Amino acid sequence: MRRILEIAGCTLIDGTGRAPIPDATLRVVDGRIAAVWRNGERPADPQGPAEQVVQARGKTVIPGLIDAHCHISYGEGKTAEEVDIYGGPEWAAVRAVWNAQKVLQSGVTSFCDPGSTWNVAVTCRDAINNGMFDGPRILAAGRHISADGGFADYFPSWLGMPVSAEGVLCSTSDEMRREVRRQVKNRVDLVKISGDSQAQDTRLDAGPCFSAEELSCIVDTAHGLGRKVTIHSRYAKTVAAAARAGVDWVIHASYMDPGDIGLLLDRQVPICATMTYTANIVQHGRDVGVDPNYIEVKKRELDALVKAHRKAIEAGVPMMAGSEAGFAVTPYGQWHAREIELMVELLGMKPLDAITAGTFNNAKAFGWEQEVGSLQPGRWADLLVLDGDPMADIRVLSDRKRIAAVYKGGELVPRADSLPTRRRMGHERSLAVSSVPLNR
Ligand SMILES: [Zn+2]
Repeated sequence: MRRILEIAGCTLIDGTGRAPIPDATLRVVDGRIAAVWRNGERPADPQGPAEQVVQARGKTVIPGLIDAHCHISYGEGKTAEEVDIYGGPEWAAVRAVWNAQKVLQSGVTSFCDPGSTWNVAVTCRDAINNGMFDGPRILAAGRHISADGGFADYFPSWLGMPVSAEGVLCSTSDEMRREVRRQVKNRVDLVKISGDSQAQDTRLDAGPCFSAEELSCIVDTAHGLGRKVTIHSRYAKTVAAAARAGVDWVIHASYMDPGDIGLLLDRQVPICATMTYTANIVQHGRDVGVDPNYIEVKKRELDALVKAHRKAIEAGVPMMAGSEAGFAVTPYGQWHAREIELMVELLGMKPLDAITAGTFNNAKAFGWEQEVGSLQPGRWADLLVLDGDPMADIRVLSDRKRIAAVYKGGELVPRADSLPTRRRMGHERSLAVSSVPLNR
């Protein structure tokens, strides 16, 4: 028995960057889009009449959002210790599937998890795909591959990198090759590299924590096994080295050298700015007790990023949208579309282009463009029905009340009126007695 649904009379933004189609209707057969037409151009319906017709006059329909950067295992940690040490794998996995429901309900029908503690992202992906829980489609990485003194190598050397940490320390090409093979055996979709060296001075571009040969080793091994590769790269030298090594996209690129834009263009390497975490610290950090020095560091980074990315966009470098949801400053289900707003507010992108970044461009980078990311025949009917026009006001994407419906695979996603909340357990928190000194 075929299930046929029509969503009728909407303004359709199909995600490809084409102009919106007024008075459009979508036909969905067995969860996938079968046809799209304007009023009066109704095509034949070889499958017969629809069982259900949703009237969407006055509403805008867009593809379900794709968040290219959501760490489902991090549990909204306030510190590196909370993310990397506390909780345990069982707790992190259960917490992740619970949080994934919030992500889906906010209108994100797919996301990439570029770096997981344990193998939580893979487990969460499988549990959702298996029909055990509601949640978005997930492109899942394992632990970040890091090198000595690299990003994610946070703890003192006498502790090493705990097995629970988001990063995994590899010191030689052989160790890196072996770690990629091990992660692929454990069913990751992509490999995440922690690219930057951690200099004590945040103004210093110390270059990547890997040699060119090591980066190529990771990228070539992962590609040889049919997996995508992305890299944390705030600094210019890391961005350039990553592009030369052939990564599929670069994350942040905050201090990118405009002289390297041609390199990204030649190799068609998209940038996933992931500004939301940084912007939230700059804009709201004071209110939530962020260290003032860290706020200054982030302010400097955001200023640099805006300057560099405006040039990259002008030159035509493809842009992706990712929120860095999963930390205390970016809780699940709340900030995913903020990145698309920031692309408009800070980077000067047109709303339509920002929507394309958060849908089609992300799907293309994942290798999923035949499945999701646009509302064209053949794709899964992952879509949002909006009470409002995001071309006029992009903030509609973040407004839970104005997201009238979320569909994944042609099925209406059940949504609570407000996000579910929970009590934070003692075992997932840092062991702080007080956060400030008790001066007398
Ligand atoms: Zn991240």
